[in-house]
Amino acid sequence: TPAREVLTWDRFGEVTRELARDIWDSGYRPEIIVSVARGGLLPAGAIAYALDLKSMLVLNVEFYTGIGVTLKDPRLVEPSGDVRGMAGKKVLIVDDVADSGRTLRFVKELCEEYATEIRVAVLYEKSRSVLKPDYAYLHTDAWIAFPWSDKDPVNGGQAEA
Ligand code: 5GP
Repeated sequence: TPAREVLTWDRFGEVTRELARDIWDSGYRPEIIVSVARGGLLPAGAIAYALDLKSMLVLNVEFYTGIGVTLKDPRLVEPSGDVRGMAGKKVLIVDDVADSGRTLRFVKELCEEYATEIRVAVLYEKSRSVLKPDYAYLHTDAWIAFPWSDKDPVNGGQAEA
């Protein structure tokens, strides 16, 4: 088993800043950020502030039901933002990691029905990902511990996911 990759809050702050810098320097000027909940919420928020962008659309996508256990396909679950909000816009999709890449491929295909231009930004890219993100700052094939999800929930994890 590969060692676990640990992202600290400090490093998260640096990485989102650098990603936003890369996006800006590439000349891409997104008009709306599509955040893939829940993993993409904090990265998307940090990148939105760094890009001085206020327009956010949250898509709630379900794929994993446990560590390494997935549904047959990723799917949109309620409540999600109104996808028509990205009609005719340049979109930046933000998520925590492209692992299998299937979640991002699903989200990108959904966005393609509405948006004029789409790019994808992630903190981490894994080598097996079926979707190649336009912006990825870190690369690993290990299981990643993110600072927002590396501790047990305060209720001991008893609520439904
Ligand atoms: P994918 O569809 O690319 O396989 O991954 C979908 C989601 O699963 C990611 O956005 C992330 O929330 C979760 N995930 C995938 N790989 C990891 C990992 O290494 N660590 C954690 N904490 N979550 C992961």
